[in-house]
Amino acid sequence: MKLSARLIQIAERLPMGCKLADIGSDHALLPVYAVKNGLALSAVAGEVNEGPLKAAQQQVAQAGLTSSIAVRKGDGLAVVSPGEVDTITIAGMGGALIASILEAGQEKLAGVHTLVLQPNVGEDLVRRWLLRHEWALTEESILEEDGKIYEILTARRLSDSAGFNAQLYAPRALPGSEMKLTEELLLLLGPWLIKEPNAVWFEKWHGEIKQLERIRSSVASSSHEASRIKEQELAELARQLKEVMECLQKDKQ
Ligand code: SAM
Repeated sequence: MKLSARLIQIAERLPMGCKLADIGSDHALLPVYAVKNGLALSAVAGEVNEGPLKAAQQQVAQAGLTSSIAVRKGDGLAVVSPGEVDTITIAGMGGALIASILEAGQEKLAGVHTLVLQPNVGEDLVRRWLLRHEWALTEESILEEDGKIYEILTARRLSDSAGFNAQLYAPRALPGSEMKLTEELLLLLGPWLIKEPNAVWFEKWHGEIKQLERIRSSVASSSHEASRIKEQELAELARQLKEVMECLQKDKQ
């Protein structure tokens, strides 16, 4: 079975011998890999759509793992009972959807100690949800595969998650600048990723700045009063991001 580098990195973040639920499992590639390699003792592969559900059932049957992987149809965390799993992966969806799945399934998170989340976009929405619900963001990574950039966020329940997060998101000075890295910027840029920014992270944010500037110039062409405020907000965000990139790039040299 050939797994993408993205799914391998997600699997590497699973605690050895976990009881896994992979939500939005599609072909169930991740749970099959995790159980085959002893990373997970058992798994639930959850799918809301019929086509991917069938693909997951076939994959699990072909792998001969029907006794250790349950393929279930349902929306988000509806496919698990409280206490049934200790680790949850949700990958390959937007950050808003991941946050809404976690929000709607909060009572299913009893007994869960690890979340490995890979939003395709809107990573800040996932970080914000974790922060608000006292999940400690313990690890972040970023990778590029087939021309796409992915972030993987790992969160754990610690005895003092709130204290851990307070330190992680504490506003701090940006080296070589008057500017402060605020909680808002850290939520956007990734509090771990920004500590050791790699080439992929720089590439992502240079692209995001270009995108912000494109949106700003299209907003600028609108005559609505509200567009002026939006334009200023976008310009200010782009200015801050440029300054962060410049300072961190200088700092690396
Ligand atoms: N997790 C796999 C991965 O990362 O390669 C598959 C990602 S695929 C792009 C997203 C999957 O999530 C689709 O198969 C879709 O049917 C499923 N999905 C979307 N919303 C869902 C929800 N609320 N509950 C369960 N599955 C969902």
